[in-house]
Amino acid sequence: MQRIAILTSGGDAPGMNAAVRAATRSALARGWEVYGIHNGYAGLLSDTMNVLHARDVGGIIQRGGTVLGSARSPEFQQDAGVDQALSNLRARRIDALIVIGGNGSQSGSHRLQQAGFPVVGVSSTIDNDLVGTDVTIGVDTAVNVTLEAIDRLRTTGSSHQRAFLVETMGRNCGYIALMTGIAGGAEVIVTPEREVEPHEVVERLGAAYRRGKTHAIVVVAEGAKHGARAMMDHFKAHRAAIGFGLRLTTLGHVVRGGVPTAADRVLATRLGAAAVDRLATGTAGVMMGLIANAVAATPLAEIAGRTKPIDCDLLDLARVLAQ
Ligand code: ATP
Repeated sequence: MQRIAILTSGGDAPGMNAAVRAATRSALARGWEVYGIHNGYAGLLSDTMNVLHARDVGGIIQRGGTVLGSARSPEFQQDAGVDQALSNLRARRIDALIVIGGNGSQSGSHRLQQAGFPVVGVSSTIDNDLVGTDVTIGVDTAVNVTLEAIDRLRTTGSSHQRAFLVETMGRNCGYIALMTGIAGGAEVIVTPEREVEPHEVVERLGAAYRRGKTHAIVVVAEGAKHGARAMMDHFKAHRAAIGFGLRLTTLGHVVRGGVPTAADRVLATRLGAAAVDRLATGTAGVMMGLIANAVAATPLAEIAGRTKPIDCDLLDLARVLAQ
């Protein structure tokens, strides 16, 4: 290996910078040359990249987002896009690529690998929906930022006897809603994996008030069919009969922008360095993740196009504990 390139792709996730830093410096330590590609696959297609030195990745470990930039690139999903990417990589005599990103990004890694170009993925998305890892870079920060918001809403909710609906990020995966619902002691958790009808939410909140609770928190994942909007419409339409109001807080991209937690920085550092170690062995075509607290490599073919389910037993537990 002589020359590698690194890109960050999909939604930005806190800790991506720590992974870029670790991969860059690990590669430099081996005497390799490193290119940083700007804005994910879009930058690969437009050949927007520059050489990274050790100082270029200094002072970024504590910063959220990604200094390389990220983008969604529909062009890369076409055959012509993959051909253009390969041609750009070969023109620069780049030997291998590290792709730091989530599900879609690792499907892209697989496409390049299948076309004969060595790629190692690094699992990074706040959604934590990747097969091949227990936890992805960014999700710990996203969960903690969301949890802080829930804790604050609970405080004000208790003072005013108000119910709050909190919409969490996570696309079609309910992981953030599940974890923050449990850690925040939510009365109801709604996820795409297990929907709760609006009338049932009303019943559960009403029952909570009757049991003497002074607060009521509903956590709804953004990808749920009966999402925040549907819940609010239902509450407005039946306000008089329900007897209490519901206030909506949509956390949105605030969650992404958090300063990466120690756990995310350490995970990103381990996986970024492990990606370089893997390339040094001459065997690419895998994604680096963490399984049972050990760094693990899973073939991209097993990851592409699949999503990891949440543990629905934890939803049952949360319901018991909300009594
Ligand atoms: P997150 O879920 O955290 O936003 P992600 O990596 O899943 O991260 P996507 O927007 O799904 O984000 O994918 C990022 C980019 O990966 C896309 O813009 C596209 O360029 C590429 N990509 C996605 N799916 C595929 C695919 N099936 N084949 C090739 N490339 C893909």
